[in-house]
Amino acid sequence: MTGMDESLLPQKSRITIFNKLVICRFCSNDVFIPYEVIVNVEQPGIGVHHVRYAAICQYCGEVKHFGDPSYYDAEKGNYIWALNQFLLSVKKYRVKILFYVGKRKQDKKTIFINKLMQDFGAEIENVKEFKEEVLLQIRFSDLNDIQTNKIRIMSCAKRLNIYVKELTIK
Ligand SMILES: [Zn+2]
Repeated sequence: MTGMDESLLPQKSRITIFNKLVICRFCSNDVFIPYEVIVNVEQPGIGVHHVRYAAICQYCGEVKHFGDPSYYDAEKGNYIWALNQFLLSVKKYRVKILFYVGKRKQDKKTIFINKLMQDFGAEIENVKEFKEEVLLQIRFSDLNDIQTNKIRIMSCAKRLNIYVKELTIK
């Protein structure tokens, strides 16, 4: 999306101002839902935009306020649109994880499954137990791409000292 002459939609999105990504000052995340804010402006200048936004960080809830600094470039004779919005859609994933549990099978299995349910809102589809391994099938929905979710699952396993032998995400 380039050059927006419309208001930002109140949907989960990444937003740029002159191609610079809007980042939450508290948690450094970049997913917001922007809402238009009505402001009382005394004697608005001609051609000046007075659109204001309050964007709510979707990770920590902090509110970011910004205006629309779009302007008319008199030299070039065209309008410079400042704001861009990249809508994010929630994607559904199915995940297969084969992991090694060794002797502390029940402990590790339960801890890992609980963590995945907590961090990803995952639903358990199937759990198969082998001698020292567990094959887990889960599904969840989120805004991240496959690569990001692979990294998240791997680092989640690593923190719990769980060795993942195979991981497939579709
Ligand atoms: Zn935040």
